[in-house]
Amino acid sequence: MTDAESTGERDTDTDAWTLPEELPAVREALIEWYEADHRSFPWRETDDPYAILVSEVMSQQTQLDRVIEAWENFLDRWPTTTALAEADRGDVVRFWSDHSLGYNNRAKYLHEAAEQIEGEYDGEFPDEPEELQELMGVGPYTANAVASFAFNNGDAVVDTNVKRVTYRVFGVPDDDEAFEAAANELMPEGRSRVWNNAIMELGGVACTQTPRCDEAGCPWREWCGAYQTGDFTAPDVPTQPSFEGSRRQFRGRVIRVLGEHDELPLDELGPRIRVDYTPDGTHGRDWLRGLLTDLSDDGLVRLVDRDGSTVASLQQ
Ligand code: SF4
Repeated sequence: MTDAESTGERDTDTDAWTLPEELPAVREALIEWYEADHRSFPWRETDDPYAILVSEVMSQQTQLDRVIEAWENFLDRWPTTTALAEADRGDVVRFWSDHSLGYNNRAKYLHEAAEQIEGEYDGEFPDEPEELQELMGVGPYTANAVASFAFNNGDAVVDTNVKRVTYRVFGVPDDDEAFEAAANELMPEGRSRVWNNAIMELGGVACTQTPRCDEAGCPWREWCGAYQTGDFTAPDVPTQPSFEGSRRQFRGRVIRVLGEHDELPLDELGPRIRVDYTPDGTHGRDWLRGLLTDLSDDGLVRLVDRDGSTVASLQQ
């Protein structure tokens, strides 16, 4: 898809959202952020579809940190689909329950999928999401994950993390079709492996339910509607995340903006902190003065009254 196409008209009612015109820069910023640093999971270091399938099936029920050991043990014991297909199904199920991986049916399905690969596909995984769905217990999400991470041949992943991110950043409405359209428009063509990893990482470590925009160095701050307004609600975050969480964000922003100026009066600082700043509004002078007073009590900011208005600067 070209960038012109990607920002073109859509024809459903839930399309009252747009992606920024500078999509290539938006994409590059995320990929660079991901490549500079990310959580290291061993299945991110391989493109073996079998190993990736095992990690995907295990992580459906279990926290990622706990999956690592189970995944390594599983692959030590049954390193290939050939080995798994030849295993006794009871041993596979026992392994599953010994590692508290939940829903033992998944172990059964994995064993059956290995038998399919050996019996129907001559030991070779198919590389298309549609065909991967023919494997036992493999739904659209898992099929797409294997196609992306093993073959770099998937569509955009649309999970709760991706929904939360696109809702906050681009104002995509809480509607499955809209999320899917946005996720696919965002993904650079032919780069599903790095892209899906990167956007899920963003949702997993930065754009979490209580977001960590500044601490995590979120690469999308300049385009993010939530960052600009301070409204961090999302489909899975129906009420504003903890007061402290968003207050911490604004404190960080005040320090950053004041670091770029010698001093600023309240009404010049306010709009640089949040786009919905209006001097007499809910998030106006009183709100900002409260924030600055806390920072001043903490010895970080200096406030002086000059000609009837308050001026803020960093404490030297
Ligand atoms: S700026 Fe904050 S809210 Fe926006 S995408 Fe980044 S982490 Fe999420």
